[in-house]
Amino acid sequence: MRKKLIAGNWKMNLLQAEAQSLFNSINKVALDSNESLDIMIAPPAPYLALFASQSSTRLGISAQDVSGREASQGAYTGEYSAAMLRSMGVKYAIVGHSERRTYHGETDETIGKKIAACLKADVIPVYCCGEILAEREAGKHFEVVSTQVRTALKGFDEKELSLLVVAYEPVWAIGTGKTASNDEAQEMHLAIRELLTGLYSKEFAKGVRILYGGSMKPQNAAQLLEQPDIDGGLIGGASLVAADFTAIIEAAR
Ligand code: PEP
Repeated sequence: MRKKLIAGNWKMNLLQAEAQSLFNSINKVALDSNESLDIMIAPPAPYLALFASQSSTRLGISAQDVSGREASQGAYTGEYSAAMLRSMGVKYAIVGHSERRTYHGETDETIGKKIAACLKADVIPVYCCGEILAEREAGKHFEVVSTQVRTALKGFDEKELSLLVVAYEPVWAIGTGKTASNDEAQEMHLAIRELLTGLYSKEFAKGVRILYGGSMKPQNAAQLLEQPDIDGGLIGGASLVAADFTAIIEAAR
């Protein structure tokens, strides 16, 4: 049985006092939640230490990115390592978000290195993949996502990937208000699971959590989360509103 994961990506939003207030609301909801669900938030990097020290064990803290270098320390201005995250109690790192791909030129090769850095430091990588609109309209979405996953996971064996979480995020649905239909999301999640079955073992593929991301909101969360291969959500906009994020957590329960 895969445990659902509801994950909020705050991106570059909220000044400290605003972030603290949102954190307080979510931390309280998480404290009251039972063990059947994992909850995670990814605040902006400057707030990670603060919230990692304040969060209850029911609320996981995530970075929105991490260095993919082999070294865990060194002369790499502006970067921070998975080992540093781990040392502060940060449990997850989002890697390969489409905004990192678009604005920072990240590729599945560089993202694969970030996955490796996370796994080495015992940080859970939340690996994001997903096609752009033109690729979907050209009917190439399965091929695109398959290539992304194969490239990012190249060279790992299934034992090394035991912590892996995948997030399918069709780029055309991120922050646009357009959501993949339940069927569109489910068929891609199933395709990713089948791909993992082919690359590794059925047992491994059955255990990997695959989140959906792209305009998930209280209004559509329950139906998406009901799909057999959707194991949670990676939520941007709606994770910035305590009531909306809480409603999605409720839907997941
Ligand atoms: C995201 O940024 O990962 C995301 C899914 O954003 P939104 O929920 O706003 O579409």
